[in-house]
Amino acid sequence: MNPQRRPLGPDATIGILGGGQLGRMLVLAAARLGFRCHVLCPDSHSPAFDVVRSVTEADYLDMAALDRFAADVDVVTYEFENVPAETATFLSARKPVLPDPKVLAITQDRFTEKEFVTGLGIGTAKFARVDSAGGLVAALAIVGKPAVLKTRRFGYDGKGQIMIRDGADPTMFDELGGQAQILEAFVPFEREISVVAARGRDGAIESFDVIENEHKDHILKTSRVPANVSPAVAAEARRIAEEIAKAFDYVGVLAVEMFVVKDGAGHAVLVNEIAPRVHNSGHWTIDGASVSQFEQHIRAVAGLPLGKPIRRGRIEMTNLIGDDVKDMPKWLATPGAAVHLYGKSAVRPGRKMGHVTQVFAE
Ligand code: AMP
Repeated sequence: MNPQRRPLGPDATIGILGGGQLGRMLVLAAARLGFRCHVLCPDSHSPAFDVVRSVTEADYLDMAALDRFAADVDVVTYEFENVPAETATFLSARKPVLPDPKVLAITQDRFTEKEFVTGLGIGTAKFARVDSAGGLVAALAIVGKPAVLKTRRFGYDGKGQIMIRDGADPTMFDELGGQAQILEAFVPFEREISVVAARGRDGAIESFDVIENEHKDHILKTSRVPANVSPAVAAEARRIAEEIAKAFDYVGVLAVEMFVVKDGAGHAVLVNEIAPRVHNSGHWTIDGASVSQFEQHIRAVAGLPLGKPIRRGRIEMTNLIGDDVKDMPKWLATPGAAVHLYGKSAVRPGRKMGHVTQVFAE
């Protein structure tokens, strides 16, 4: 057996790139399965640093630090998708990196991601690349109005996006920093949903129930499970996520964000974005399912069998964003509410400070 394919033993160390709340919850899930973790992150206040055995506080391009990190771990994974390609390549020459860095290369760029998805025959909003201020006019002719202009890389939580309703002027290209952009048709969606799916090293796939997401100021505010969609839409959403996971030969957890739109008498499902990592809309699985997205990810990268997720009831997950964290006493006093804080001391508007999961009888 290829040693990289052998399941990790109980004394193994899992290396995680990124030390935010996703890294913190991955570390906690790994500990429950008896694994140690080593987190590499440039930020000394990383939420994951408080709960992990080994830390490397270094830049992602500090090759000497990456070399030491690789020597200390048995497998490398990540909690965010903007790991530089050079970092992933450097590490994969030393230790297995899961999911495969080629997935990062595709999903770091909204344009290559959408080409990949449509190449599988899966629907997205109409889109066109925009490489210059003048190119915006040509792209609008293809995509139509209203439309959303986005940077191809490094956008999240609505950052790096401009809505174009009527007129478009070329200064919009410069407003987004003059970098490579994508224009997408605005989707008049009925609801936003996501599917969080895990794929093991053996190719087995387990997806969680379809999640319905509500955003406020472009940031996820509430996730509800099950999503209020027909069984046919739910099955289609899961099929899409599983097909994407298979096409990537993916190992680990990924999330696919989708729009549900009216389509004649029925509905169509369009892919908005792929997150090659555990995802905020899957946080409910810690308290609301028999196995969490974090444990599934650790199981997958460790070469262990995935769990069969069984949902414990109807779920509502609420993000505590910025000053919402002041509601903590209320949540602590709410029967059945599971409160999670990420250990961030500085409260800033839009900053995800924690979340609360409520499980109700169905
Ligand atoms: P994104 O960063 O691409 O995930 O976008 C953040 C949010 O903006 C999405 O969850 C939607 O609510 C909204 N959005 C993004 N793209 C579109 C689109 N093409 N049509 C309609 N709403 C969009």
